[in-house]
Amino acid sequence: MDAPHVSRALVPDPYGSHEPPIYQTSTFTFDSAAQAAALFAGEKPGFVYTRLGNPTVAAWEARLAALEAVHPAPPVPLVPSVPSALAFSSGMGAISATLLALAGQGDHVVATEPLYGGTAELLGDLLPHLGIRVTTVRAGDADGLRRAVSLPRTVALFVETPANPTLDVVDLRLAAALAQEVGARLVVDNTFATPVFQRPLQLGADIVVHSSTKYLGGHGTVIGGAVVTTDTAWLNDRLLTLRKLLGAVPSPFDAWLLYQGSKTLELRVRRASETALRLAQWLAAQPAVSWVRYPGLPDDPGHEVASRQMSGYGAMVAFGIKGGMEAGARFLDALRVAKRAVSLGCTDTLVEHPATMTHAHLPKAEREAAGICDDLIRVSVGLEDLELIQSDFEQALGAARLAAAVDR
Ligand code: PLP
Repeated sequence: MDAPHVSRALVPDPYGSHEPPIYQTSTFTFDSAAQAAALFAGEKPGFVYTRLGNPTVAAWEARLAALEAVHPAPPVPLVPSVPSALAFSSGMGAISATLLALAGQGDHVVATEPLYGGTAELLGDLLPHLGIRVTTVRAGDADGLRRAVSLPRTVALFVETPANPTLDVVDLRLAAALAQEVGARLVVDNTFATPVFQRPLQLGADIVVHSSTKYLGGHGTVIGGAVVTTDTAWLNDRLLTLRKLLGAVPSPFDAWLLYQGSKTLELRVRRASETALRLAQWLAAQPAVSWVRYPGLPDDPGHEVASRQMSGYGAMVAFGIKGGMEAGARFLDALRVAKRAVSLGCTDTLVEHPATMTHAHLPKAEREAAGICDDLIRVSVGLEDLELIQSDFEQALGAARLAAAVDR
């Protein structure tokens, strides 16, 4: 099956269905052998097999591309330029395929840290195993980044901003300039910010990746990923071939759920980020809290850069709880409204402890070098009323402190 380019055209629905139909099929029938040959030769648009492409997935991809549209600055035409998108069966599928499409044996990849734990594992274990050299640089270390990208055969700079789980912010314009200087591609994981608050392609990035499991879908019902780029040729050739061969393709039903979820993306993230700002301000005033990271707080180390490149600060908050790991466990155990869960970006507030959960597989020294300390609690703020989350956190912080006092 070597026809990666034939299967992504949008087809008009014969009944004028308002919403895209769910084409829950593994394969497509041909009118004739000649039509099949024309489809495989790429001479006609159409679908042959769902691992190569599917109309429901194509509808989701068209929507994804529009979400990351690049708006040229006036006075040039105000019509946005729409990039191309490929949907994957998970964020890790999207990230792995992207990096494997860009780098081969002997190449060098640079990444800022911290990163989502799975991405850190991919860069730390799998890519070196394949003979791809990887250098990680702490987010915010501009000199380190400049030195790292100038190492021989740097083909990609991978950045997560705001970063999981510390909420560190990376200057995307600077990263784009550094990557461009050495002819490397800048890949940005835009999962935390979402296209509502940050458009990396507009800031000079070459490729955007998402875990659409999170805000894009928004309801915690799907695992999905996405790659968006203005380099349509690369996407339709190299990346589509890798998706086809690695098989990280979304199901039509998942693509449909993501399509539907994305319709309320802007409403959801604006509401959640308003709550997140107020929760972060409240947390900063709590005696049981030693520090708070939220790019929207004026004294946050990432505030200035975030204010330049984001139109909102997102709905993720990180804080340090006095009493470290033990107090963190007690805080989690005492929560009644917020859910103890990894993942993020759904309607409910989710709270987790990265050192023992999402980033537990990283050695402690490596974790701490990336800023992921034992006292860090990560919060994905949901759509509940602020007062409800705040009172839940208040009683849970109190319970954690009380238990610590009893232990002493
Ligand atoms: N990127 C970020 C920032 C994430 O937080 C995650 C997962 O939590 C991923 C990528 C991986 O996404 P998925 O779990 O959909 O494979």
